[in-house]
Formats: sequence, C-alpha cells, structure tokens
Amino acid sequence: MILTDIIHLLPDNIANQIAAGEVIQRPGSAVKELLENAVDAGSDEIKLIISDAGKALVQVIDNGKGMSETDARMAFERHATSKISNIDDLFRIKTMGFRGEALASIAAVAQVELKSKRDEDPSGTYIEIENSKVKLQEPVAANRGTSIAMKNLFFNVPARRNFLKSNTAELRHIIDEFIRVAMAFPDIFFSMQSNGQEVFHLEKGSLKQRIVQILGNNYNAKLVSVQEQTDYLNIMGFVGKPETAKKTRGDQYIFVNNRFIKSAYLNHAIMNAFADLIPKDSFPMYALFIDLDPAQLDINVHPTKQEIKFEDDKIVYAFVHSAVKHALAQFSITPTLDFELDSSIQSLDAINKPMTEEQRASTASSSLFKAFSQKNQAHLIERSSGGNELKHWKDFYESPADKKQNDNFSSSTTSSLHKESDHEYSLMQLHNSYIIVQKGSGFILVNQQNAHERVLYERYAKAVEGKPIATQQSLFPVTIELTSGDSIVLQELLSDMQDLGYQIELFGLNTFVIQGTPADVLNGNEKGAIENILEQYKHFSSDLKFTKREKLLRSMAIQNAIKTGTTLTQKEMQGLVQDLLACEISNATPTGRPTYMNFDKGEIDRMFGR
Ligand code: ADP
Ligand code: MG
Repeated sequence: MILTDIIHLLPDNIANQIAAGEVIQRPGSAVKELLENAVDAGSDEIKLIISDAGKALVQVIDNGKGMSETDARMAFERHATSKISNIDDLFRIKTMGFRGEALASIAAVAQVELKSKRDEDPSGTYIEIENSKVKLQEPVAANRGTSIAMKNLFFNVPARRNFLKSNTAELRHIIDEFIRVAMAFPDIFFSMQSNGQEVFHLEKGSLKQRIVQILGNNYNAKLVSVQEQTDYLNIMGFVGKPETAKKTRGDQYIFVNNRFIKSAYLNHAIMNAFADLIPKDSFPMYALFIDLDPAQLDINVHPTKQEIKFEDDKIVYAFVHSAVKHALAQFSITPTLDFELDSSIQSLDAINKPMTEEQRASTASSSLFKAFSQKNQAHLIERSSGGNELKHWKDFYESPADKKQNDNFSSSTTSSLHKESDHEYSLMQLHNSYIIVQKGSGFILVNQQNAHERVLYERYAKAVEGKPIATQQSLFPVTIELTSGDSIVLQELLSDMQDLGYQIELFGLNTFVIQGTPADVLNGNEKGAIENILEQYKHFSSDLKFTKREKLLRSMAIQNAIKTGTTLTQKEMQGLVQDLLACEISNATPTGRPTYMNFDKGEIDRMFGR
C-alpha cells in the first residue's frame, strides 16, 4: 500500500502573508498600528505621511525611545514584542499593542524601510525588508526616534491589492484611524501629510482644544464637560450641546483605556441621556474616555477588532448614562436633576432602560406579533419586477383617456412639488407621512419621504448625465470651513455637484465659497445643506458597490427629500404622486425601501368577511 503524505508546512513567507491578512487589511490598518507603536514608544511628536491614499506609502516618524540594532531587526519577527513577557502581564496591559504581530504583518505584505535610534546609541540603524526578508541593514546617522515607511502595500499579493477601494475611501479610513489615535493623546503633537499637502497639524493642548482642532470650530463653546470618578471606573470627555446634534451619526467617539472602541451598547447609554433634548432622528457629538482596571476587560477579544467586552457591562452602561446626564444637567441644559449618580436605585433604573427597549423590539419581531400582522397579508408589497410594477402603476392611474397626458409627465423633469396639474384626484395625507390614493380595485399607500427620494434621485441622475440643474447665484456668497477629512471629500465631489446646481469653489486650505445653489435650497441654509450632504455621503463612503457619483446622487436624494412629518398641500401631493409615476423605477427608493404599497379591495373585503 503506497500512500503519499499530503501534509506539508507552508513556507514562512506564505504563512506570514496569510497571518498578515488579519492585521493589515488596508492602508488604514497600517496607519493605526504604526501610530500606536509610536505612542507606545513614548513619543511626543508623531508625523504621518501618506501618498496615493497609503497605497504607495504610509510612513510614521516619531521621536520616541527608538530601538537598538538587534531590537530593530527582532521587531519584524512574528510574536516579537517588548510589551509583555508573561501571561499575567496580559491582565495589566496598558500599551496599545502587545501581540507583536503588526510589524511582522506589514513586513509580509509590503516593502518596509525602518530607521531608528535610541538616545544611548552613537548611531542609528537602517533596515530594508521585503517579503519578510531583511535585504539590507546598516548603521545610519539619525535623531532619537523611529521612522517606519511601508511602501507598495500588497505588492506581492495582487489579489488583495485589487481589493483596495478608491483613494477617497481608503483616505477616509486613514483619516478615521488618525483621528482615533490623535484624539486620545492631546499631549502628543500629530501631523498628517497626504500627497505633499498637510491635512492635519495638531499642536499639543487640552482634550477640548484637540477635539475642536479635529472636528472643527463649530464645536468651540459648544462642548459640555463630562467628568465622573468612581472606584470602579473614571469617565471624562465631552459631549456636544444638544444644538450641535447632526442628522447623521458622525462625530461619536468612545475610548476605553485610551483605545477607540465601537459599542452600540454604550452608544445607547449616551443617546438615552440625550433622549428628550434632541430630535429622535439626530445624533449628538461625543468623545468620552472610560478608564478602568484592565482586569475588568476581556483581553481575548482581538485588538484589531474594535469591539470590547467588559467584565460587567451593565455597570459601565449605568455609569456612562449617569455621567452624561449629570453633565447635561449641570450645565443646566436639562431642566431637572432626575437622578443621583451614587444612588444605586437610580442606576438600576438606568440599567433597566435598555432592557425594556429590547423587550419592545423582541415583541415586535416575535412570531406571535408577526403571525397577527401578516395573517391577512394586507401590508405586504406586491413583489413583481420593476417593469411590471410600472405598468401596474399606470394601470390604475390611467383611464385610457388620460394616457396621452401622462406620457407628457413621463418626459417632464421639472421641479415637482409645486407643479400645476390638470389631474385632480383627491388625495389624503395620513400622519403627515403617507398619501392614500384610491384606485378602481383598492387603494395605494405612498410613503411621501421614500417617494420623493426616488423622484429626486432620478432627477439628479439625469442632471449628471447631461441635463444640469440650474444654479441660482447667491447674492452673498457663503463661506464654509470644513475639517480636513471633509474638505478632501468635498473637493472630489465639486464637479458633479456643479451639475447638480451647486457652484462651490475651494478657497484656502479647508475653506470653500458657495457661489450658488439649486433654486430649491433655502436662502441662508446653503451651509447646512452642504454639511448634511457630506454627512450622508460619508455614510455611504465605505460601500464598495457604488461609484462616488452614485453615492453623491443617493446622498443628495436622501438629504433633500421631503421628510416624514411634513404637511403637504393637495397640489404638492399630486405633484409628488405624478412624478413618482413618471419614474423609471417607481416602486422603491434607490436603497430599496418601498415607495408605495398596493392594497387590493378584494383582499380587504375578504378580511372583513365580505
Ligand atoms: P506590539 O506593538 O504588539 O508589541 P509590533 O509588531 O507593533 O508589536 O511591534 C513590535 C515591537 O517593536 C514592539 O513591541 C516595540 O518593542 C518595537 N517597536 C515598534 N514600533 C516602535 C517604535 N515606533 N518605536 C520604538 N519601538 C517600536
Ligand atoms: Mg504594535
């Protein structure tokens, strides 16, 4: 019996490349790792240099403690770390890194040049590495500190290189990572240069100054300090005053032991504290730092993941909730002090709040609830293909005599809501959200916001395909100052936005002048309109499927659509319904939400036993 053994060991460089995939997924991951190493090295000046959105170069230069000749070489070995030496250290870990994987991973998937020098050494060390192999090591004249340059990420893993997103998207990730580190260490100077242009220059200062430097001057004098110290944990940081809340989630940061984390749970605690102070659909700014004994954290959660497990997350929830409420109350933003931080009963109450919400949600999704509401199928969308749907629409809308007239609508691209109309159906608005339209064999229920989103989207799509929307020149051009990140995004969108009626010019580093907007943007609201579009756009920015133009169209449609809760006149309702009818795809928003639902009279009759 001859059997050939089939198991063999992977060559080191391939094993390293595979392992690297977990740590280095994109240029932004390298930015995070290199910045964290620089922080761990005790630097007080850290510079990040990027070219081609990090695809060509990510370089971090620090003035930290540097590495010896041997350490500089060792640092690139897998599991090489100076930060822990035994298992107990894991429960005391205070540094950002400790697994000794980052540099090994970078060296496996890019070309690396390192220069490092310690105070006590006469000269520094220069090393070049490629495919995990040291190609050159020699002494070099250098200042104290370390510079690590990662070049041509994934040059040896083409499949992964092809998987990288557009420069805008990758730069966005880099800026996110940069901000997450820079915000946590205001006593370190940080700068960031992208393609030779300085995009951040963050002088050392207080946390408040750092937040304003990063998130923009709008927050100056609009931050409320949060500060609570307990035996179990400390919370400090800032929340934005309620008036700074935005329509989309954006400026929200939670750090645990100075590490940025994502936590829907703690976000809920904060949102809850803001509950009656801001509109339901808006998001407050926050940058909160929670410090607690590392033994209270589950360190087995992979450090490159931003989720975190607390030993006791209900306590943390209650503290965060109380601390924010307390802060808002102290600044007499909330009228009453309805809790006491150290009252255990009240914090129990806070603990219980998310539970009741969850219970509510689970009730809504329970099979009993569903069985009840689905039983008669009245609310189900008729799922036919787009073309059929359109025909369907016309079927109940058009008597044959109407046909000609409606064909005119189909070619109309003019503004909808105030359009005069010969069609006088009587429409009814429900809850300022829905329009009910009777038809021969039943009725349809139109969601006004979704419908308008679809209408605007198609109008904008036509605009960028050669039927530009007219610009109304502003009498008094407005200037708008953005953060560096937003400024980069906006610059990329300027030419498409011009077709959509926005005439905006770059004016200085991060300042723009709005020379004109489409006619339907309210005078005085130009700035807000553009900020909102950017917020919305950033929401889509990590989405692989769409081009930047597509994302812009979607963002603008979402942003400018009439909202649920808006009262519409008969004319406005008719205009909207007709415009929807004229859409190429009338039954769903660009993101796939239904625009209307069809209720058949026969089915309704049956439900009533008739
Ligand atoms: P970890 O940070 O988890 O220890 P890394 O692979 O990121 O692992 O780094 C390996 C080691 O290299 C670190 O433990 C540290 O000793 C050293 N090192 C990395 N970057 C720097 C730096 N900028 N300055 C000084 N030492 C560094
Ligand atoms: Mg590290």
